[in-house]
Amino acid sequence: MDDSFVLGRLTSMQYSPRTLDILYKSSIITLVGVPLVGVLTAMILAWKRIFFPMDLAVLLAFHTVACMGITVGYHRMLTHQGFVAPAWLRLIILICGAMAFEGTPAQWAATHIKHHAHSDEEGDPHSPLEGFWHAHIGWLFARTNFPEVRKYAPQLLDDPVVLFVTRTTFLWMGLSLFIPYLVGGWTGFVWAGLVRVFLTTHVTWAVNSVCHTFGKREFETTDASRNHWLIRLLAYGEGWHNNHHAFPRNAFHGMRWWQLDLCDLFIRICELLGLVTQVQRVSPEAANEQRVRALRVSGKVDLLRMQLQHAAEAAQAEVERLFQQSIAATGDSSLQVRMGEYIARIADIRRSVSSPLRVKHSRLEGYASQIQIVLEQARAMAQRTASAVG
Ligand SMILES: [Zn+2]
Ligand SMILES: [Zn+2]
Repeated sequence: MDDSFVLGRLTSMQYSPRTLDILYKSSIITLVGVPLVGVLTAMILAWKRIFFPMDLAVLLAFHTVACMGITVGYHRMLTHQGFVAPAWLRLIILICGAMAFEGTPAQWAATHIKHHAHSDEEGDPHSPLEGFWHAHIGWLFARTNFPEVRKYAPQLLDDPVVLFVTRTTFLWMGLSLFIPYLVGGWTGFVWAGLVRVFLTTHVTWAVNSVCHTFGKREFETTDASRNHWLIRLLAYGEGWHNNHHAFPRNAFHGMRWWQLDLCDLFIRICELLGLVTQVQRVSPEAANEQRVRALRVSGKVDLLRMQLQHAAEAAQAEVERLFQQSIAATGDSSLQVRMGEYIARIADIRRSVSSPLRVKHSRLEGYASQIQIVLEQARAMAQRTASAVG
């Protein structure tokens, strides 16, 4: 079966890998570029005062529907099995998700499961450790970042609701552009169609980029996930991303009473009405235990970061002293270049240690041994120079 609306359809058409690559990249350029053209057109329309409140209302309605389809349907229900819903409700929620222009439910879930399996490590499809823009949009351009559904979410290939939405994804995408046109004509198409797609897709991509780079960490996790207030607002709760990585199956991403959001509210109401069952939640005790652990670990990491800063500064001073001594003894000015190389390596380590990105304890220990290696090499060089002169 075709498990991705772009990837699956293309791979099923027997193209050569090169043609496939060109077709695939063109599809992604269209997905990223056309809504951007829509935003620019909307700005020109707004400048000329061609602007209708109804278009904005439809924009907000479609963003809410599509975004909740992704967060409640694709993400919490399908990927993490945070609750169980009957087939008719699953169908509605997943159709809403298909309107977000983020691919089929099965492909989305497989990619996201891969993200959780390798968060901010090799194998993560969209970690900002490879660059912020890679995490936001760049990752979309490499077909290899989309894993096989068969490998990461095989159970979804036997799910008739998922299969139906997968096969009809294009229909729902088209409908989410056609309805705004019916309601508002061309301005409706631009605002509630194209600008809406721009908003919905970028908000989801920001969970991958912004919420793994900026914001606060309440829980200790093995990745760089963070809670970000703005993404939380725009993505109806998905911005509580550190909470989510700490407790992936939890159906509610808000972990405190004031962190309630629209998606949490929707699931709670469905549960109260008996529409969804087996809703996964975390007890306040388990959450507190995890918070205490987070404080302990982040304290240790901060201390190690500080020690490494001092060690790197001291190492730089020693390398400079050793090289200056050797240059003075031999008069060999080419040593200046090599000293620059050693200092550049230490500067690299200092930059990584003070990076705003979260660094794992084990990686920091790696930096400590790298400083030691640079120092040993510089000392050996100084010794060789001294014995050559002697
Ligand atoms: Zn994440
Ligand atoms: Zn997740």
